[in-house]
Amino acid sequence: MHDRNKDCLAALREGKTGTWIRPRISGADALGHVISGGDVDAAAERFVRFAPILTMLFTSGAWDGHIVSELLDFHGPDDANWLVKGDHALPMTGSIKARGGVHELLCIVEQIALSNNLSLDRLTTPEARSILGSYRVVVASTGNLGYSIGVVGRAFGLVAEIHMSADAKAWKKDRLRDIGADVVEHACDYSETIARARVAAENRRDTMFVDDEGSRHLLTGYAVAADELARQLDARGVRVDAETPLVVYLPCGVGGAPGGITYGLKRRFGDAVATVFVEPVASPCVMVALASGLASPPSVYQFGCDNGTIADGLAVPRASALMLDAVGEAIDAVVAVTDSAMLDWVRTAWNRSALRLEPSAAAAFAAHAPFNLAAKHEPEWPRLDRATHLFWATGGSKVPDPEFTALLSPDYADAEG
Ligand SMILES: *Cc1c(COP(=O)(O)O)cnc(C)c1O
Repeated sequence: MHDRNKDCLAALREGKTGTWIRPRISGADALGHVISGGDVDAAAERFVRFAPILTMLFTSGAWDGHIVSELLDFHGPDDANWLVKGDHALPMTGSIKARGGVHELLCIVEQIALSNNLSLDRLTTPEARSILGSYRVVVASTGNLGYSIGVVGRAFGLVAEIHMSADAKAWKKDRLRDIGADVVEHACDYSETIARARVAAENRRDTMFVDDEGSRHLLTGYAVAADELARQLDARGVRVDAETPLVVYLPCGVGGAPGGITYGLKRRFGDAVATVFVEPVASPCVMVALASGLASPPSVYQFGCDNGTIADGLAVPRASALMLDAVGEAIDAVVAVTDSAMLDWVRTAWNRSALRLEPSAAAAFAAHAPFNLAAKHEPEWPRLDRATHLFWATGGSKVPDPEFTALLSPDYADAEG
């Protein structure tokens, strides 16, 4: 095993911040063939098709039904101009799951409509709702995926059965029960919860399982975000090329969200973009998969990690094999960050820019310093002082006030144990 891999696995055993970095930035040729550019374009068209229906189902405000987030300026350390992709404030769900998770759900609804001869523009009629109500969607989640599938699935009238791992926050479960979703609680980690939910969905009539470890529709839904970002950068006159590369910091759980976005970004910008996956030191599932070089993704427990983290969105012991097939060779770096660094950035993002982020989202910022230090020592990496640094804020705007106030308190880490 290469030294860089050994060093990073050793740091993990000690629960320390660590970085795994490729010798050079990968290009579009590093992308796998699990999904295609055509699949991503089809996902983008599906979002457009459904926009008028989503406005009817989610009428609050003047929303046009398009799942788009703002590109925001952020004042980084040493007067650095950073950019933030504001998916924490995405419509309907307040997290990045509004892209992949909702795309998967739209595929399911479309399939039901097709097999029942329902046209999309009649999907909100009582007749359509009673048909949709005879179908069940089953999903496993650490919180946000289940929350998103539950909220949007119920809005369409589907029966929603959400299997929550031990990491899930109480408010997400309560909110789901309030809207009539069936919440099934499991006292185990996320990988095991997926396995149990998969079994629960098997051999049941009119039941669809949203497979976070193995769904192409999740990946393509996330990948659409890359084209949205490219348009926003272009509109701002931000150039992305070899002299001024784009570095994107992406919080990572199973890897579907950062993986899909990596696919879309590499497709468009090739090696002018570097994607940095960010994981908790306790749950570095993509880091151990890449650093160990094992053919099927290992579990973090094998590397001395316990998967215990305040970042519920990232508390995943085993990465998605499908995602690794799709973009494993194209991930440029993985950074493992501590819970306390995430909490520091929850506070900083709030105090500096009134960004309401959950720890999973704030993790992106915590990766900047360790990653840039590591890149400096790599002879074949470009200098990154002229790069555009973009942090993907993946969730948090729907965190209730008491929870968020607790996160801001200096005692939070102690309170959580
Ligand atoms: C789901 C989630 C992620 C990571 O997505 P994966 O597809 O699991 O890698 C990151 N941040 C937040 C807030 C999330 O909910």
